[in-house]
Amino acid sequence: MKCTDILRITFNDMKINALLVFSAMAGIAAAVSCSKKNSVDLQQKVDEYAVVELTSPLLETLSDKDRQVLNLFRSAATVIDGLFWQQTFGDKSQLAAIDDQAAKDFAKINYGPWDRLDENAPFIDGYGEKPAGANYYPADITPEEFAAFGDPDKNSPYTVLRRDADGNLKCVWYRDEYRKSLDLVCKYLEEAAMITENPGLKNYLLKRVQAFRTDEYYESDLAWMDMKDSNMDIVIGPIENYDDKLNELKTSYECFILLKDGERSAELAKYVSMLPELQRILPCPEEYKTFVPGTSSDLNVYDAIYYAGDCNAGSKTIAINLPNDDRVQAVKGTRRLQLHNSITAKFGKILLPIGRLLVEPEQRKHLRSEAFFWNVTFHEVAHGLGVKETVNGKGSVDEALKDEKTTWEEAKADILGLFMVCNLIDRNEIPLISKEDAITTFIAGLVRSVRFGAASSHGRANMMCYNYLKDNGAFTRNSEGLYHIDFGKALEAIDSWAGLILKTQATGDYEFAKAYAEKNAVIHEPLAADIANVNGHNIPRDIRFDFIW
Ligand SMILES: [Zn+2]
Repeated sequence: MKCTDILRITFNDMKINALLVFSAMAGIAAAVSCSKKNSVDLQQKVDEYAVVELTSPLLETLSDKDRQVLNLFRSAATVIDGLFWQQTFGDKSQLAAIDDQAAKDFAKINYGPWDRLDENAPFIDGYGEKPAGANYYPADITPEEFAAFGDPDKNSPYTVLRRDADGNLKCVWYRDEYRKSLDLVCKYLEEAAMITENPGLKNYLLKRVQAFRTDEYYESDLAWMDMKDSNMDIVIGPIENYDDKLNELKTSYECFILLKDGERSAELAKYVSMLPELQRILPCPEEYKTFVPGTSSDLNVYDAIYYAGDCNAGSKTIAINLPNDDRVQAVKGTRRLQLHNSITAKFGKILLPIGRLLVEPEQRKHLRSEAFFWNVTFHEVAHGLGVKETVNGKGSVDEALKDEKTTWEEAKADILGLFMVCNLIDRNEIPLISKEDAITTFIAGLVRSVRFGAASSHGRANMMCYNYLKDNGAFTRNSEGLYHIDFGKALEAIDSWAGLILKTQATGDYEFAKAYAEKNAVIHEPLAADIANVNGHNIPRDIRFDFIW
C-alpha cells in the first residue's frame, strides 16, 4: 500500500468492450503525428506537475562505500523504470516519433499516452482507450475469457498472460518474460551486496536477487522487515497492482531509493510509545476506548532520492506501507515509511500557494511545512487508534460499515491525526510548530484534497471534514471572501467531529454512515468557487522530479 494522498483512479465498474480494445490496438499501430489536444493545452498539463529537484542533506553523511552502493541502486532503478514502461505501455520507442515536445514530456510523466489524473484519457492522436489490462494481458482479452481460462497461475501477481501461436492464452512468469532486464537488476544488486557493510541490507539484497529469479518474494520481504537499522534502503520489485484495471492482480515494477532520517525517526518512535495514553484521552465515551493500540508499529522517516517505475507515474507517493504479503504481515507486521522531502515538496509547490491564495493575510504565517509533515505522519499513526470492533455485537467496524468503511476510516485518521498533533504540541512534545500552524495547514490541506473530487474514499472523507469544520464555525470568510480561522471553535470542532466518527464506528451504524456521507461528502459553494480560483491560478496538481545526485 502506498499513499499518493490524492486519488488513485479505479475502474471497478468498467466493462471491457471488445470493440474499444480493438480500436485501441488499431490506434497503437497507427502513425503518431500530432497530439489530440493542442500543444498549448498539453504544455499546461505538463506544468500542472511542478518540477522538484529531489535531493537530501543526508547524502552528505554517507561514506564512499555507501555512495558506491547508491550508484548501483540507481543503475538497478533505471532498468526497473524500463520494465514498468513495458508493463504499462509496451515499446517505449514508439513514442520517440512524437514531434511535439509538450506531448513527449506529458507522455514521460504518465508513462504512456494516457492522462493518469484524468481517468487515463488518451492525449495523443492515434491512441485510443488504454487497455484495462495494460500490457499484463493480451489487449483483446475479455473478463469472460480470463474467467474461463483454466490455468491457476493466471492468478499470480507475477505472471503475464500471452497468446501462443494458435491464439490460446498462456501464463508466462515475470522471471521469464523480463529475464534480460532482471539479470541486469540482479547483477547490480549483487554488486551492491558485496560492497555494503550493513549485514541486514546485504541479506535483503541477496534474498531479493533470489526473488527476482524465482518469483518468490516471501523470504526477501521478511529480510526487508529485518533491516530497519540501515541508513539507506531500496524498495524494489513488482509491488502494487493498481495499474492492472482488469483484475487489480498483476504487480507493477517500481523502485524507491531512500535515506533514513535518524533524528526524525527517533522523535516518531517516542510518539508511537505514547499511543496507549493518547488512546485514553480520545474525545469519546469510555466504552469506545477498550482497544489497546500496539506500540511496536514500525514508523520511520526517510528522504527519497530516486523514484522509478510505477511510483513515479502520475501522482507521486509520499508514504509507503509495505510489504503487501499477508503472510509476512502476520509474522512481522509492516514497515511504514514517511518520505519527508517529498511531503515537504508537495507542501511548497501545492499547499502553500493554495493557502496563500485563500487564507487571510494575518493567518498565512501559520501555513508551515513542518505542520504539514506532522499532520500527514499522524494521519498514519491515527489508523492504529480508535475502535476496531463494534461495541454492540455487529462484528468488526469494517464488516459493519461495509462500503462506507474506508471513507470513515480515512476521516478518522485525518481528524485524530490533527487531534494528536495538537495534544502533543500542548505537552511541548512536538517542537517548532503551534496548534494554530497545525490547524491552518490542515484546513488549507483539505481544499487541496477536495480539488480531486469525490472519486476516492479519501476525497469523500475530506469533504465531510471540511463541511463539518465550516458548519461548526472553525472558519468563516472575511469581507474579501478569505478564510479566517477561529482557533477556539476549530479545537472544539476537532473534538466533536472525532467523537462523531468514533461513535459511528463503535456502533457500526451503517445507515447513519451512508446517509451522513451522502449529505455531506459534497462540494457546495463557495468551496466550488475556491477550487475554480485555485485552478485558475495554475497551482500545480502534483510534482515531478529532477534527481539531483
Ligand atoms: Zn489513511
